[in-house]
Amino acid sequence: QLPLALLLSMLTSYIVWLATANRMSMAWQISYGLTAKEFMVYCQPIINASSGNCDGIELLLRWHNARQGWIPPDVFIPLAERQNLIAPLTRFVITEMVAHLPVMPRCKSFHVAINVAASHFRDRAILDDLQTLWWPANPVPQLVVELTERDALPVVDQRVISHLHKVGVQLAIDDFGTGHSSLSYLKTLQPDVLKIDKMFTAAIGTDAINATVTDMVISLAQRLNISLVAEGVETEEQANYLRERGVDRLQGYFYARPMPLGDFPAWMDRHLAH
Ligand code: C2E
Ligand code: CA
Ligand code: CA
Ligand code: CA
Repeated sequence: QLPLALLLSMLTSYIVWLATANRMSMAWQISYGLTAKEFMVYCQPIINASSGNCDGIELLLRWHNARQGWIPPDVFIPLAERQNLIAPLTRFVITEMVAHLPVMPRCKSFHVAINVAASHFRDRAILDDLQTLWWPANPVPQLVVELTERDALPVVDQRVISHLHKVGVQLAIDDFGTGHSSLSYLKTLQPDVLKIDKMFTAAIGTDAINATVTDMVISLAQRLNISLVAEGVETEEQANYLRERGVDRLQGYFYARPMPLGDFPAWMDRHLAH
C-alpha cells in the first residue's frame, strides 16, 4: 500500500517538475530568442473595402527558434503573457516598426496596428513604451492598438484609455465576438475599431448562426459609429459580402499573407501598380 502511494506521489511531482521545467525553458528561450534575434516582425496589409487601397498594416510577431524551428504566436504569446515577457516583445515590435518608418507610406490615412495583450495594458507600461519608443520617431502613420485578451479582459485603467485617445492613438478590440470579449467593453473601452474575428468571416455562406452574429456585429458597430475591420478574408465571396454590408476594411489571405516588414514597400508598389 504505502510504497505504491509513495511511488504515485513521486511520479506526480516528477510530472509537475517536468512541466515546470519545460515552461521555464520556454520562457528562457523567449528571452534568449530576443537577444539572439530569433524574432521577426511581419505585417499584413489591411485593405480599404471601398477603394481597394491598402490603408494600413497589422504587425504580427514571428519566432524562428534555433532548436524547434517556427513557433506560432498562438503558442508563445500566451506563454509570454503568463511569464511577464509580453512587454519586451511588444517593445521589440514597436522598435522594429520605428526602424521601418522611413520606408512606410507617409500619410495620415495610413495606419499601423500593433497587438497589445491586455496584461501589458493594465497599467501604464504601454504608455511609457510609446512615450520612449514611438513618439520620438515623429511617426506619420496613425497608430492603432489592437487589444487582445486571452483571459478575461482586465479592469482597464480608464486613465490609460483616455490618455491613448488624447495622444491620438486609436483603440481596436480584437477578435470581437469570441471568447471573453463582451458587449460591455464597447462602453468601458470606447473603441474606435472592432475587428471581426476570422471565425465569423469563415462562417459567411456556410454557417447560418455565426453568419447571423457577423451581421449583428456589423450593424451594432455601424449604429455606434465604430469602424469595422474583418479579418481572415480568404475568398472573393467573403470580401463582397462584407463590402456590401459596409465593413470598412478587409484583411486576409485573399489580399495578402503576412510578410516580413521589409518586404512591404515592394508589395505596396505592386499593389499600387494594379
Ligand atoms: P490576431 O491578432 O487575431 O491576428 C490575426 C491572425 O490571423 C494572424 O495569425 C494572421 O496571420 C492570421 N490570418 C491573417 N489572414 C488570415 C486568413 O485569411 N486566414 C486565416 N486562417 N488566418 C489569417 P498569427 O500571425 O499566427 O497570430 C496569431 C495571434 O497571435 C494573433 O491573432 C495575436 O492575437 C497574437 N499575436 C501575433 N503577434 C503578436 C504581437 O506582436 N503581440 C501580441 N500581444 N500578440 C500577437
Ligand atoms: Ca490582431
Ligand atoms: Ca483577431
Ligand atoms: Ca486571434
